[in-house]
Amino acid sequence: MVELKKKEDVSPVCPHCNTDIREVWFNELRTDFGRRYIYFCSKCKKVLGVTHRKGFWMG
Ligand SMILES: [Zn+2]
Repeated sequence: MVELKKKEDVSPVCPHCNTDIREVWFNELRTDFGRRYIYFCSKCKKVLGVTHRKGFWMG
């Protein structure tokens, strides 16, 4: 059993540039399978994750 906790007082750290992520940027991709959202770090622009749902990154 894993608990999911909401934490607003800590920032996630980008695995690429190792800095606190203050903002996550995303781009909409149009593919043959529908829309995908690609999320990336606003600092180093490296990709953090891709999802088919908007507003839920790393999902
Ligand atoms: Zn980064």
